[in-house]
Amino acid sequence: MAILLKGKEVSTRIKDELKNEVAALKEKGIHPGLAVILVGEDPASQVYVRNKKLACEYVGINSFEYLLPESTTQEELIELIEKLNKDDTVSGILCQLPVPKHIDEEAVINAIAPNKDVDAFHPVNVGKIMTGNFDFVPCTPAGVMELIDESGIDVKGKECVVVGRSNIVGKPMAMLLLHRHGTVTICHSRTADLAEKTKNADILVAAVGIPEFIKGDMIKPGAVVIDVGINRIAPKKLVGDVEFEAAEKVAAAITPVPGGVGPMTIAMLMKNTLKAAEINHTKQEQ
Ligand code: NAD
Repeated sequence: MAILLKGKEVSTRIKDELKNEVAALKEKGIHPGLAVILVGEDPASQVYVRNKKLACEYVGINSFEYLLPESTTQEELIELIEKLNKDDTVSGILCQLPVPKHIDEEAVINAIAPNKDVDAFHPVNVGKIMTGNFDFVPCTPAGVMELIDESGIDVKGKECVVVGRSNIVGKPMAMLLLHRHGTVTICHSRTADLAEKTKNADILVAAVGIPEFIKGDMIKPGAVVIDVGINRIAPKKLVGDVEFEAAEKVAAAITPVPGGVGPMTIAMLMKNTLKAAEINHTKQEQ
């Protein structure tokens, strides 16, 4: 039976450490603040935004919430972002994706000042992730790295297979594993003979968005399996992108869904916000 990589527990430990760091920053007169913008009423996004607010309260970060109607125009949204860019009480800005169809997602991402881009989606931050000299790491891949470290596995020289090539998860995930000297293969919807690739993985990351897509027989015995997927298959039932029951019999370590990567993502957002507060405070002092 595989070891469970319990992101919920690890994330609580990280948030407790951050709580102390926030207190120490406040003593130096630095008050981290996170602005979260949600346009529209997507139920899943509402849950994510609420959880982010709760995490801010837990660690002591000021949270500024902007719940905008579906009818908000792109110009109005960008105007708000530009106002927040200039606001010294706001260390980090996050616009919950997806935005409604009439708004250009790329324009929104590009409007956020790179030094406040705690999601690390701005092209400047994406470029920095490529070079390895980065301030902010995208929250989900950063959370995955923490869990891999937690499992005690050294990525160096390992075969790492990432299934999914999105800008938010797959691509930055592959880069982070590469920076740790993993031999990385990125698989996607057009990959030929996927199982042949996944069966080779010492570390397998699934970020596909298809419920239980990775079957037990696609996993190398003893692999570390990281399931990024969050799929709601019934009103109260979430499953990942990995067929958990079969996978945990084969893998050495695996993340559960829920309670695996999800909570780590929010903990990493808090970490990035603290970093932004420090960076922006230093800038103000210069
Ligand atoms: P996405 O839809 O943007 O990307 C999915 C990727 O899967 C694509 O790159 C595509 O090429 C690949 N894919 C699709 N079908 C495939 C197939 N048959 N074979 C191989 N690859 C295939 O999704 P995303 O934003 O990267 O999210 C992926 C999953 O992770 C979703 O379930 C999402 O809900 C979840 N997610 C979780 C967190 C978290 O905090 N845990 C954060 C972000 C996303």
